[in-house]
Amino acid sequence: MHDAIPTVTLPGGEDVPSLGFGTWMMGVDKSVAKVEIDTIRLALDLGMTVIDTAEMYGDGGAERIVGTALKDRREDAFLVSKVLPWNASYSGTIKACHASLDRLGTDHLDLYLLHWRGEYPLDDTVAAMEELKAAGRIRAWGVSNFDIGDMEELLEVADGKNCSVNQVLYNLSRRGIEFDLLPWCQEHGIPVMAYSPIEQGRILDNPELIHIAKAYQATPAQVALAFLLEREGVIPIPKTSSPRRLQENREAVDLDISEDDWARLDAAFPPPARKVPLEML
Ligand code: NDP
Repeated sequence: MHDAIPTVTLPGGEDVPSLGFGTWMMGVDKSVAKVEIDTIRLALDLGMTVIDTAEMYGDGGAERIVGTALKDRREDAFLVSKVLPWNASYSGTIKACHASLDRLGTDHLDLYLLHWRGEYPLDDTVAAMEELKAAGRIRAWGVSNFDIGDMEELLEVADGKNCSVNQVLYNLSRRGIEFDLLPWCQEHGIPVMAYSPIEQGRILDNPELIHIAKAYQATPAQVALAFLLEREGVIPIPKTSSPRRLQENREAVDLDISEDDWARLDAAFPPPARKVPLEML
Protein backbone atom coordinates (compact mmCIF):
# COMPACT_ATOMS: atom_id res chain seq x y z
CA MET A 1 0.00 0.00 0.00
CA HIS A 2 1.22 3.47 -0.83
CA ASP A 3 0.34 6.75 0.81
CA ALA A 4 -2.41 8.70 -0.94
CA ILE A 5 -1.16 11.58 -3.04
CA PRO A 6 -1.74 14.78 -1.03
CA THR A 7 -3.84 17.49 -2.64
CA VAL A 8 -3.42 21.17 -3.38
CA THR A 9 -6.42 23.49 -3.42
CA LEU A 10 -6.78 25.76 -6.43
CA PRO A 11 -8.10 29.32 -5.91
CA GLY A 12 -11.51 28.19 -7.24
CA GLY A 13 -11.75 25.69 -4.37
CA GLU A 14 -11.00 22.51 -6.33
CA ASP A 15 -8.53 20.00 -4.86
CA VAL A 16 -6.04 18.43 -7.28
CA PRO A 17 -3.34 15.83 -6.58
CA SER A 18 0.00 17.45 -5.77
CA LEU A 19 1.95 15.04 -8.00
CA GLY A 20 1.23 15.45 -11.71
CA PHE A 21 2.61 14.32 -15.02
CA GLY A 22 4.49 16.17 -17.80
CA THR A 23 4.50 15.45 -21.53
CA TRP A 24 7.28 17.54 -23.07
CA MET A 25 9.12 15.43 -25.69
CA MET A 26 6.15 13.11 -26.10
CA GLY A 27 4.40 12.70 -29.44
CA VAL A 28 7.60 13.19 -31.40
CA ASP A 29 8.75 9.64 -32.18
CA LYS A 30 5.89 7.53 -33.56
CA SER A 31 7.69 4.27 -32.73
CA VAL A 32 7.20 4.94 -29.00
CA ALA A 33 3.62 6.22 -29.21
CA LYS A 34 2.12 3.10 -27.66
CA VAL A 35 4.33 3.14 -24.60
CA GLU A 36 3.69 6.88 -24.17
CA ILE A 37 -0.08 6.30 -24.31
CA ASP A 38 0.16 3.37 -21.88
CA THR A 39 2.26 5.46 -19.49
CA ILE A 40 -0.24 8.34 -19.49
CA ARG A 41 -3.06 5.88 -18.75
CA LEU A 42 -1.01 4.34 -15.96
CA ALA A 43 -0.48 7.83 -14.50
CA LEU A 44 -4.29 8.15 -14.25
CA ASP A 45 -4.50 4.71 -12.59
CA LEU A 46 -1.86 5.77 -10.06
CA GLY A 47 -3.68 9.00 -9.21
CA MET A 48 -1.27 11.35 -11.00
CA THR A 49 -4.19 12.87 -12.81
CA VAL A 50 -2.86 16.38 -13.47
CA ILE A 51 -1.67 15.92 -17.06
CA ASP A 52 0.38 18.84 -18.35
CA THR A 53 0.80 19.44 -22.07
CA ALA A 54 1.13 22.37 -24.50
CA GLU A 55 0.50 23.27 -28.12
CA MET A 56 4.28 23.67 -28.40
CA TYR A 57 5.25 20.12 -27.42
CA GLY A 58 6.03 18.07 -30.51
CA ASP A 59 4.24 20.77 -32.52
CA GLY A 60 0.88 19.47 -31.30
CA GLY A 61 2.12 15.85 -31.20
CA ALA A 62 2.07 15.67 -27.40
CA GLU A 63 -1.53 16.90 -27.29
CA ARG A 64 -2.49 14.24 -29.85
CA ILE A 65 -0.87 11.50 -27.73
CA VAL A 66 -2.63 12.79 -24.61
CA GLY A 67 -5.92 12.90 -26.53
CA THR A 68 -5.52 9.28 -27.56
CA ALA A 69 -4.63 8.25 -24.01
CA LEU A 70 -7.66 10.07 -22.58
CA LYS A 71 -10.11 8.66 -25.09
CA ASP A 72 -12.95 7.06 -23.04
CA ARG A 73 -11.49 8.38 -19.78
CA ARG A 74 -11.34 12.14 -20.16
CA GLU A 75 -13.07 12.65 -16.81
CA ASP A 76 -10.24 10.84 -14.98
CA ALA A 77 -7.80 13.62 -15.86
CA PHE A 78 -7.24 17.21 -14.82
CA LEU A 79 -6.06 18.39 -18.22
CA VAL A 80 -3.69 21.35 -18.59
CA SER A 81 -2.47 22.90 -21.85
CA LYS A 82 -0.74 26.13 -22.84
CA VAL A 83 -0.91 28.84 -25.46
CA LEU A 84 2.34 30.08 -27.00
CA PRO A 85 3.08 33.78 -26.38
CA TRP A 86 3.00 34.65 -30.09
CA ASN A 87 -0.54 33.23 -30.29
CA ALA A 88 -1.68 35.01 -27.13
CA SER A 89 -3.61 37.95 -28.61
CA TYR A 90 -7.34 38.02 -27.77
CA SER A 91 -8.47 36.20 -30.92
CA GLY A 92 -5.25 34.16 -31.18
CA THR A 93 -5.73 32.69 -27.70
CA ILE A 94 -9.28 31.62 -28.50
CA LYS A 95 -8.18 30.10 -31.83
CA ALA A 96 -5.20 28.30 -30.25
CA CYS A 97 -7.41 26.88 -27.51
CA HIS A 98 -9.85 25.44 -30.05
CA ALA A 99 -6.95 23.89 -31.99
CA SER A 100 -5.64 22.32 -28.75
CA LEU A 101 -9.13 20.99 -27.94
CA ASP A 102 -9.32 19.40 -31.39
CA ARG A 103 -5.95 17.69 -30.98
CA LEU A 104 -6.89 16.57 -27.47
CA GLY A 105 -10.29 15.29 -28.61
CA THR A 106 -12.15 17.06 -25.82
CA ASP A 107 -14.53 19.98 -25.47
CA HIS A 108 -12.83 21.54 -22.47
CA LEU A 109 -9.53 22.01 -20.65
CA ASP A 110 -9.38 22.03 -16.87
CA LEU A 111 -6.63 24.64 -16.94
CA TYR A 112 -5.16 26.77 -19.73
CA LEU A 113 -1.87 28.59 -19.27
CA LEU A 114 -0.01 31.38 -21.02
CA HIS A 115 3.28 29.51 -21.68
CA TRP A 116 5.46 32.55 -21.09
CA ARG A 117 5.08 36.29 -21.41
CA GLY A 118 5.36 37.74 -24.90
CA GLU A 119 4.50 40.92 -26.76
CA TYR A 120 0.72 40.89 -26.35
CA PRO A 121 -0.73 42.94 -23.47
CA LEU A 122 -1.80 40.79 -20.53
CA ASP A 123 -5.26 42.43 -20.70
CA ASP A 124 -5.89 40.82 -24.10
CA THR A 125 -4.80 37.34 -23.06
CA VAL A 126 -6.72 37.50 -19.79
CA ALA A 127 -9.86 38.74 -21.59
CA ALA A 128 -9.60 35.76 -23.95
CA MET A 129 -9.11 33.37 -21.03
CA GLU A 130 -12.23 34.77 -19.36
CA GLU A 131 -14.18 34.46 -22.62
CA LEU A 132 -13.07 30.81 -22.98
CA LYS A 133 -14.15 30.20 -19.40
CA ALA A 134 -17.57 31.76 -19.95
CA ALA A 135 -18.01 29.58 -23.06
CA GLY A 136 -17.13 26.42 -21.09
CA ARG A 137 -14.00 25.69 -23.14
CA ILE A 138 -11.73 26.01 -20.11
CA ARG A 139 -12.53 25.67 -16.41
CA ALA A 140 -9.69 27.86 -15.15
CA TRP A 141 -6.62 29.67 -16.44
CA GLY A 142 -3.13 30.51 -15.24
CA VAL A 143 0.34 31.56 -16.32
CA SER A 144 3.79 30.07 -16.68
CA ASN A 145 7.30 31.49 -16.27
CA PHE A 146 5.99 34.60 -14.50
CA ASP A 147 8.37 36.19 -11.99
CA ILE A 148 7.07 38.23 -9.09
CA GLY A 149 6.94 41.52 -11.05
CA ASP A 150 4.88 39.83 -13.78
CA MET A 151 2.52 38.40 -11.15
CA GLU A 152 2.06 41.80 -9.55
CA GLU A 153 1.30 43.31 -12.94
CA LEU A 154 -1.15 40.50 -13.68
CA LEU A 155 -3.13 41.21 -10.53
CA GLU A 156 -3.61 44.81 -11.70
CA VAL A 157 -5.26 43.69 -14.95
CA ALA A 158 -9.07 43.30 -15.08
CA ASP A 159 -9.87 39.73 -13.92
CA GLY A 160 -6.13 39.09 -13.41
CA LYS A 161 -6.95 37.94 -9.89
CA ASN A 162 -8.62 34.87 -11.41
CA CYS A 163 -5.19 33.39 -12.16
CA SER A 164 -5.20 29.81 -10.81
CA VAL A 165 -1.54 28.74 -11.00
CA ASN A 166 1.94 29.85 -11.99
CA GLN A 167 4.00 27.06 -13.60
CA VAL A 168 7.74 27.64 -13.18
CA LEU A 169 11.11 25.92 -13.16
CA TYR A 170 11.63 24.59 -9.65
CA ASN A 171 13.79 21.77 -8.38
CA LEU A 172 16.66 21.15 -5.93
CA SER A 173 19.18 22.83 -8.22
CA ARG A 174 16.87 25.78 -9.07
CA ARG A 175 15.63 27.11 -5.77
CA GLY A 176 15.60 30.82 -6.64
CA ILE A 177 11.81 31.10 -6.29
CA GLU A 178 12.07 30.28 -2.57
CA PHE A 179 13.41 33.79 -1.96
CA ASP A 180 10.32 35.69 -3.08
CA LEU A 181 8.08 34.18 -5.77
CA LEU A 182 7.12 31.02 -3.88
CA PRO A 183 6.18 32.84 -0.63
CA TRP A 184 4.31 35.43 -2.72
CA CYS A 185 2.30 32.70 -4.48
CA GLN A 186 1.64 30.95 -1.16
CA GLU A 187 0.39 34.21 0.40
CA HIS A 188 -1.91 34.79 -2.57
CA GLY A 189 -3.17 31.19 -2.58
CA ILE A 190 -1.84 30.61 -6.11
CA PRO A 191 -0.32 27.10 -6.44
CA VAL A 192 3.05 26.70 -8.15
CA MET A 193 3.37 23.90 -10.70
CA ALA A 194 7.04 22.85 -10.57
CA TYR A 195 8.34 22.02 -14.03
CA SER A 196 11.50 20.00 -14.73
CA PRO A 197 11.25 18.76 -11.12
CA ILE A 198 14.20 16.40 -11.54
CA GLU A 199 16.09 18.92 -13.73
CA GLN A 200 15.57 16.59 -16.71
CA GLY A 201 17.77 14.05 -14.94
CA ARG A 202 20.82 16.31 -14.55
CA ILE A 203 20.77 16.34 -10.73
CA LEU A 204 20.42 12.60 -10.29
CA ASP A 205 24.17 11.94 -10.13
CA ASN A 206 24.73 14.38 -7.27
CA PRO A 207 26.71 12.38 -4.64
CA GLU A 208 24.81 13.80 -1.62
CA LEU A 209 21.46 13.13 -3.27
CA ILE A 210 22.55 9.56 -4.03
CA HIS A 211 23.79 9.13 -0.45
CA ILE A 212 20.52 10.34 1.11
CA ALA A 213 18.41 8.31 -1.31
CA LYS A 214 20.31 5.14 -0.35
CA ALA A 215 19.58 5.72 3.33
CA TYR A 216 15.85 5.47 2.54
CA GLN A 217 16.19 2.67 0.00
CA ALA A 218 14.90 5.23 -2.43
CA THR A 219 16.20 6.70 -5.69
CA PRO A 220 17.61 10.21 -6.23
CA ALA A 221 14.55 11.07 -8.38
CA GLN A 222 12.25 10.11 -5.51
CA VAL A 223 14.13 12.33 -3.06
CA ALA A 224 14.11 15.21 -5.57
CA LEU A 225 10.32 14.85 -5.90
CA ALA A 226 9.84 14.47 -2.13
CA PHE A 227 11.65 17.80 -1.68
CA LEU A 228 8.96 19.51 -3.80
CA LEU A 229 6.04 17.54 -2.35
CA GLU A 230 7.08 18.76 1.10
CA ARG A 231 6.32 22.36 0.10
CA GLU A 232 2.90 23.96 0.54
CA GLY A 233 1.02 24.65 -2.69
CA VAL A 234 3.62 23.05 -4.98
CA ILE A 235 2.69 20.53 -7.70
CA PRO A 236 5.68 18.81 -9.36
CA ILE A 237 4.91 17.46 -12.85
CA PRO A 238 7.68 14.95 -13.70
CA LYS A 239 7.69 13.58 -17.23
CA THR A 240 8.46 9.98 -18.01
CA SER A 241 7.65 7.64 -20.85
CA SER A 242 8.63 4.63 -18.76
CA PRO A 243 5.97 2.77 -16.73
CA ARG A 244 8.70 1.61 -14.33
CA ARG A 245 9.96 5.14 -13.67
CA LEU A 246 6.37 6.35 -13.36
CA GLN A 247 5.78 3.86 -10.52
CA GLU A 248 9.03 5.03 -8.97
CA ASN A 249 7.96 8.68 -9.17
CA ARG A 250 4.55 7.88 -7.68
CA GLU A 251 6.21 6.23 -4.69
CA ALA A 252 8.07 9.46 -3.85
CA VAL A 253 4.93 10.34 -1.88
CA ASP A 254 5.79 7.59 0.66
CA LEU A 255 9.15 9.11 1.61
CA ASP A 256 9.51 10.63 5.03
CA ILE A 257 12.82 12.48 5.07
CA SER A 258 14.30 13.48 8.46
CA GLU A 259 15.12 17.07 9.44
CA ASP A 260 18.82 16.16 9.44
CA ASP A 261 18.64 14.91 5.89
CA TRP A 262 16.73 18.00 4.73
CA ALA A 263 19.59 20.01 6.25
CA ARG A 264 22.10 17.88 4.31
CA LEU A 265 20.16 18.55 1.11
CA ASP A 266 20.18 22.29 1.90
CA ALA A 267 23.95 22.13 2.20
CA ALA A 268 24.26 20.31 -1.14
CA PHE A 269 21.65 22.48 -2.88
CA PRO A 270 21.66 25.80 -1.02
CA PRO A 271 18.49 27.89 -0.89
CA PRO A 272 18.86 31.42 -2.32
CA ALA A 273 20.30 34.15 -0.08
CA ARG A 274 19.06 36.95 -2.34
CA LYS A 275 16.75 37.61 -5.29
CA VAL A 276 17.49 35.40 -8.27
CA PRO A 277 15.67 36.31 -11.50
CA LEU A 278 13.34 33.49 -12.48
CA GLU A 279 15.13 30.91 -14.62
CA MET A 280 13.50 29.24 -17.61
CA LEU A 281 14.21 26.14 -19.66
P1 NDP B 1 11.74 16.39 -15.79
O1 NDP B 1 12.54 17.01 -14.70
O2 NDP B 1 10.37 15.93 -15.51
O3 NDP B 1 12.62 15.20 -16.37
C1 NDP B 1 12.19 14.39 -17.43
C2 NDP B 1 13.36 13.50 -17.84
O4 NDP B 1 13.76 12.69 -16.73
C3 NDP B 1 13.01 12.56 -18.96
O5 NDP B 1 14.17 12.44 -19.76
C4 NDP B 1 12.72 11.23 -18.24
O6 NDP B 1 13.11 10.18 -19.09
C5 NDP B 1 13.60 11.30 -17.03
N1 NDP B 1 13.02 10.67 -15.84
C6 NDP B 1 11.74 10.77 -15.38
N2 NDP B 1 11.60 10.09 -14.24
C7 NDP B 1 12.80 9.55 -13.95
C8 NDP B 1 13.29 8.74 -12.88
N3 NDP B 1 12.50 8.34 -11.88
N4 NDP B 1 14.61 8.38 -12.92
C9 NDP B 1 15.42 8.77 -13.93
N5 NDP B 1 15.01 9.54 -14.96
C10 NDP B 1 13.70 9.93 -14.97
O7 NDP B 1 11.77 17.43 -16.99
P2 NDP B 1 10.73 18.11 -17.98
O8 NDP B 1 11.45 19.26 -18.58
O9 NDP B 1 10.11 17.12 -18.86
O10 NDP B 1 9.63 18.76 -17.00
C11 NDP B 1 8.43 18.11 -16.66
C12 NDP B 1 7.24 18.71 -17.38
O11 NDP B 1 7.10 20.09 -17.07
C13 NDP B 1 7.38 18.71 -18.91
O12 NDP B 1 7.24 17.43 -19.47
C14 NDP B 1 6.33 19.71 -19.28
O13 NDP B 1 5.03 19.12 -19.21
C15 NDP B 1 6.53 20.76 -18.20
N6 NDP B 1 7.47 21.85 -18.61
C16 NDP B 1 6.98 23.13 -18.69
C17 NDP B 1 7.77 24.18 -19.08
C18 NDP B 1 7.18 25.55 -19.16
O14 NDP B 1 7.85 26.46 -19.71
N7 NDP B 1 6.00 25.77 -18.66
C19 NDP B 1 9.20 23.98 -19.43
C20 NDP B 1 9.65 22.61 -19.23
C21 NDP B 1 8.81 21.61 -18.83
P3 NDP B 1 12.08 9.00 -19.53
O15 NDP B 1 10.91 9.66 -20.16
O16 NDP B 1 12.90 8.20 -20.47
O17 NDP B 1 11.75 8.29 -18.26
